[in-house]
Amino acid sequence: MLTEFTEDPIIRERFRDLVPPLTPQAAVVESNRCLNCFDAPCMGACPTHIDVPEFIKRIASGNLRGSAHRILEANVLAGSCSRVCPVEVLCEGACVMHRYNRPPIQIALLQRHAMDAFHASGEPLLLEQPSPRNLKVACIGGGPASLACAAELRRQGATVTVIDRRALPGGLNTYGVAEYKLPVAHSLREAELIREMGVEFRLNTPVDSSADLATLEAEFDYIFIGVGLGAMQRLNIPGENHPGVLNALALISAYKTGHITQMSGTIVVVGAGNTAIDAAVAARRLGADTVYMLYRRGAADLSAFDFELEHARQEGIQFLWHRLPVSIRTASEDQLENENLADGALLLDTVAVRKVGDSLEELPNSLYTIPCNKIVPAIGQSPLTQLLNEERFVITADGRILINRETGQTTNPRFFAGGDCVNGGREVVDAVADGKRAAFGILAASIAAMHSETEVAHA
Ligand code: SF4
Repeated sequence: MLTEFTEDPIIRERFRDLVPPLTPQAAVVESNRCLNCFDAPCMGACPTHIDVPEFIKRIASGNLRGSAHRILEANVLAGSCSRVCPVEVLCEGACVMHRYNRPPIQIALLQRHAMDAFHASGEPLLLEQPSPRNLKVACIGGGPASLACAAELRRQGATVTVIDRRALPGGLNTYGVAEYKLPVAHSLREAELIREMGVEFRLNTPVDSSADLATLEAEFDYIFIGVGLGAMQRLNIPGENHPGVLNALALISAYKTGHITQMSGTIVVVGAGNTAIDAAVAARRLGADTVYMLYRRGAADLSAFDFELEHARQEGIQFLWHRLPVSIRTASEDQLENENLADGALLLDTVAVRKVGDSLEELPNSLYTIPCNKIVPAIGQSPLTQLLNEERFVITADGRILINRETGQTTNPRFFAGGDCVNGGREVVDAVADGKRAAFGILAASIAAMHSETEVAHA
């Protein structure tokens, strides 16, 4: 086993699945609705091109194991994807049933049904034993892009090592996706499946320096960078170092790993993307009485999906639009007493803003102070790519690694990259597709290098 992980019963109770699974009977009924389209648009709409009609057909015939195998051939993280993919705009959005004014086939729930049965069975993924290749690859980062790249390379006979600074594998799937969408245990069992395929994991192993990179370059032929997004950006306002300020990824990771099991009072989340919403909903479910989301723009400018916003409203999150935080103060003894605040309360000063051209202008006399117990910044994230850029000629733009989209290769031919550190933060399924693509890019590069060595030897 990669690691032992015990679910916290309190967290499990408060963060029960947002969407319940299908019963076996419902799965058979739903799978029989599928038309098994010849040119299935659902398949084309999936970035990893899962053979949707075929895996659904196998569920209809009671062959759940065969169904899971068909899915895993295309997407080794299909269990996670079935829970977190925005299927409304991917496979289910493309389903032909829409043309007949009928509800789309519930592809995500069917996929989850097959994958849950497979993982619950504990059976290993039976793969044809790959012919060993003289190819050693390191995948830095333990998230979806690296795991997908590692699995695909392993299938092709390469020796692969996944290296991650944290104690548990899975990256954002383990540490950053809300528990009610994707429980930690589900993320870990997918990583375990990849370990069973023969991928080595080196956890608690940061790669921070030029010397760390040099060591990896000496050991491996190619290096895949799947480090995801780095630390959350700072608010850059006075008072930000107060211990009551906790960034959104740290909050999500803390409750998912059982380090925070309850919150109270008023929480202010600054930002309104998907991660901000996950953090706000988490704060409510952990017991916070009031949760505000403070956003410098309006609802129409949100990067979060509409259904996420609606979900947040249903959870009781209150939105403060067109407001900027300007400073954080610790409430004085008098303020604690006069305003009936709990010990350790913070005061978040905010101002109203309006959009003028591309910038925001502060409205006069709009200062508004929010007494609160915690402030959770969630205002975008910055990739950790500076070292590669400065030391290894890996060109970046706006902090993202530039790659050849066909191969995943960076401007340094020994480095490939994919996932959030390339695209700035998209879906898990996009990271999986990037990782797979880069695996084939690495294979092609290693074959080309072998041929050119042979030509030199014959010359
Ligand atoms: Fe089935 Fe819909 Fe895909 Fe057609 S488009 S194969 S009906 S899921």
